[in-house]
Amino acid sequence: MSLHYLEQYCPRLMYISFLGSDELGHLNDYAGYIKALKTYDDFMDELYTKLESMGEYGKSTTVFLSTDHGRGVGPFFRHHSVMKFTEKKIFLFVKGPHTKKMGRTRKKSHDQTYIRTTVEKIFGLPLTHNQNYLKEVVQE
Ligand SMILES: [Zn+2]
Repeated sequence: MSLHYLEQYCPRLMYISFLGSDELGHLNDYAGYIKALKTYDDFMDELYTKLESMGEYGKSTTVFLSTDHGRGVGPFFRHHSVMKFTEKKIFLFVKGPHTKKMGRTRKKSHDQTYIRTTVEKIFGLPLTHNQNYLKEVVQE
């Protein structure tokens, strides 16, 4: 679906939020959860390959991929009513012409609130929510 949208409408920005793993986590389906993560990994590979094949358009498109929230550890894997710190950590993939190539890192953790301001910073918009954006992602 997302790849079709990408080809059809050529957006400058795509934000894709993976939701299926969360549902499986709430069902305490760890095997299904891991399978969903592998599906995401395959999709990311497909998306990356697609963007690379789209020439200048692919190079100028900014993509954010994430989940709605992370998972807690141990007994906090299934539920998130308390929103432990580990649940606020998110997986985030960012690719675009104004982003740094930093590879895979776990140096810092951020939550969803940083995505909006990071998009605003990348596109030269005023930061409307707060001044916190992902400095390690934005190429200035
Ligand atoms: Zn959830």
